[in-house]
Amino acid sequence: MIVRAGWVVPVEGPAIPDGFVEFRDDRIVRVGSAKELGALPVEHAFPRGVLTPGLVNPHTHLELTDLALPRSDFWTWARALVARRGEPGAHDVAATGVARGARLSLEAGVTCVGDISRSNLHWPILRQSPIRKVCFVELLAFALEPARTLAELRAGVEAVDEDALLTVGVSPHAPYSVSSADLYGSAAYATTLDRPWCVHFAETREEVAFLAGDDRGLTASLRERMANCGIASPRTSAGAYFAEFATACRPGLLVHGNYLTPTDLAALRTVEPTVIYCPRAHAYFGHTDYPLRMLLDAGLRVVLGTDGLPCSTTLSPLDEARFVAAHDPVVDGASLLRMITLDSAAALGLAERIGSLAVGKCADLAVFELDAPTDEPIDALFRATCVRPAAVWVAGQQVVGQSSTGAVTCRRS
Ligand SMILES: [Zn+2]
Repeated sequence: MIVRAGWVVPVEGPAIPDGFVEFRDDRIVRVGSAKELGALPVEHAFPRGVLTPGLVNPHTHLELTDLALPRSDFWTWARALVARRGEPGAHDVAATGVARGARLSLEAGVTCVGDISRSNLHWPILRQSPIRKVCFVELLAFALEPARTLAELRAGVEAVDEDALLTVGVSPHAPYSVSSADLYGSAAYATTLDRPWCVHFAETREEVAFLAGDDRGLTASLRERMANCGIASPRTSAGAYFAEFATACRPGLLVHGNYLTPTDLAALRTVEPTVIYCPRAHAYFGHTDYPLRMLLDAGLRVVLGTDGLPCSTTLSPLDEARFVAAHDPVVDGASLLRMITLDSAAALGLAERIGSLAVGKCADLAVFELDAPTDEPIDALFRATCVRPAAVWVAGQQVVGQSSTGAVTCRRS
């Protein structure tokens, strides 16, 4: 199969004008200039298209896709979410949300998601979707449902049936909802399994104050639940605490990091986390300026995720990158593109397989058709206000767009 486009952007290496990608079965076998094609038949041609690797969204909660919650501060929002999860029919809403979220992701050019489910209901649904996925099993000590302990976490992980497109991951929820012992136990377990792990971290001022020993910003009911589960302040900085439980473990994914400070960086560098910045969720909750430049200057890998749909208006990491380009333009277009492709793939442990257009990698591709020709395809992608992909492939299977036979092949879960 040969796909030709006005621009091919491999991410690793320069953009190719009038380029092509050829793949056989699920693998890329050639990437180059259309001049090299000679008389070979081209199955798909997009003269105004920008062909990129499929986008990778490293952090989302697809089960929240169909959940509308009133906008508020983070803690009020979280309480409303917990209340909704206890209502009759909540599982059905979550399940349909996972399926719809996977479809919306594919339609946005996302070919791989790192998805967290509170009750582990995501993976059987996502297994039926052609999207590539890392299904994180979540541990939250005072939740209504498993996993609340390391034993329940292990049972949840062992229940997940992996396949070529599905990898399991481990997600201790946050330092105020998981004890120190279980944070370490989760990261160590993921390391033993050689699977990714992630934790929401330094998301709010109140959380960071709690870590330092001041829990007055947390509600009395939350403090009581924490005490009942043996969750106590480590009385240290966020960076030092993360480094403490992540030591000797596989590098983890630090989700948010909204309130990391310069003093956190030296400790964090020792354990090399990838920080997942969710720009529109950050803005949704009205957090103060994100320390993006500081994190990058410290040599940390930062990638972009959408978080759940209630906090962002789409499930597109490209839209997150556009948001950064528009509101906090401290990163160039090529770096932004890496943050939503190759670097995100690396964060999920999948850089050998996806994230760039290279021979031997999986044929996960997206073609974004621009409405005007351009000499700067990457910048054009970030300038565009709303460009949906004309075609998307995962592992060589077309999942969005018009097939070469003219049929619309929007495969849906
Ligand atoms: Zn999240």
